[in-house]
Amino acid sequence: MSKCKQCGMCCRTMVVPLNPRTDKDAFELLTMKSNYIRHTQYAGQYWVMLNSQCVHLEHDYQCGKYEGRPKVCREWPKKNLKLWKKLCPECGYCE
Ligand code: SF4
Ligand code: SF4
Repeated sequence: MSKCKQCGMCCRTMVVPLNPRTDKDAFELLTMKSNYIRHTQYAGQYWVMLNSQCVHLEHDYQCGKYEGRPKVCREWPKKNLKLWKKLCPECGYCE
């Protein structure tokens, strides 16, 4: 059964969409940055996963703003599951 393992990966990263035709230079640059993790292609785009930790993430990977967390966090990862499966197969919702 799918469930959160509380690994904090979704709160320690951000995913940036890039058009492979118009953003070729930005794509190349992002993949050379120290916070680059991995990328994939999905729905006609490149998607680059970067290290980018939320300021509300606590040391035990719990959300420090749980009751007031943004809508995107409340709905995570249902809306983006197909993409997230490609970028973070270790997530409990992707198994
Ligand atoms: S990446 Fe998946 S398993 Fe890890 S904290 Fe986020 S939702 Fe939970
Ligand atoms: S607000 Fe909470 S759930 Fe949302 S990214 Fe930050 S730590 Fe994660």
